[in-house]
Amino acid sequence: MAEGQLEIGDIRVASLSDGVVEFDPRLMFPETQIEHWSHFYDIFPECFSGQHFLMNLGVFVIGSGSKNVIADTGFGPHGKMLGSETSAELMDDMARKGIATEDIDTVFMSHLHADHVGWNIDPDTSDVPTFPNARYTVHRADWDHFTVPDEDSEFGMEPIERSVIPLEEIGVLDLMDGETELAPGVTAFPTPGHTPGHMALLLSSGRQRAIFVGDILINPMHATETDLSFALDTDPAEAMKVRHEVLDRAEREGTIVLGSHLSPPGWGTMVRWEGRRYWRGMG
Ligand SMILES: [Zn+2]
Repeated sequence: MAEGQLEIGDIRVASLSDGVVEFDPRLMFPETQIEHWSHFYDIFPECFSGQHFLMNLGVFVIGSGSKNVIADTGFGPHGKMLGSETSAELMDDMARKGIATEDIDTVFMSHLHADHVGWNIDPDTSDVPTFPNARYTVHRADWDHFTVPDEDSEFGMEPIERSVIPLEEIGVLDLMDGETELAPGVTAFPTPGHTPGHMALLLSSGRQRAIFVGDILINPMHATETDLSFALDTDPAEAMKVRHEVLDRAEREGTIVLGSHLSPPGWGTMVRWEGRRYWRGMG
């Protein structure tokens, strides 16, 4: 198999990235000291620049039957993300990997944070979808939550007004109310907590399974630090419950876990090492 590609039975997954963003860990995990993460420096060197996190903005194109689903659209060319520089590489990465925007049938948004919707609309315009042949889809609970102005929202209203609301106006947005099959064996299901309408994807073909977890896991270290609350979780208690359920099950069943912010190519399995759980990347 080519680098950056995964097969789950008949389902094909290509790994893409919109770039890497650097953060002070205390911005994301305010309860912890910066030294808390030193244990992981040697295990995940690609996730650190000194004491800072390096966060991959991962995107996946999932092909099944004649359908292509893109799982999230990165941050896009919209300046800084929570104070950090971004590089907006998704279109270049797609071109490099031979995937055209016209090839995409469905844009799946795991949730409506700014780093998951950034390329929805062609950035040279205000109302032309980047993926011209696609329907765009998100859970109704995220639409209801994020389209109501909220002064406390971490990313502000600008990403919603620029990258989400136009989809509705153009008529390419479908809201999901629950489990929804997007392509043969590719099923979105609710995993609330990080946001009210956060959804994951189950990829199932033959006897093989994988799960795209979006932001249930915010980085590889989070698979080990399952009990640490992430600052951007809308409902921290529910997010933690879902994180435990999904990761415990993936560990038990040996399921491949793909995540938006895991180390490229962004997929791996749960392993036990000295009594603790770790996400171990593959390929
Ligand atoms: Zn994210």
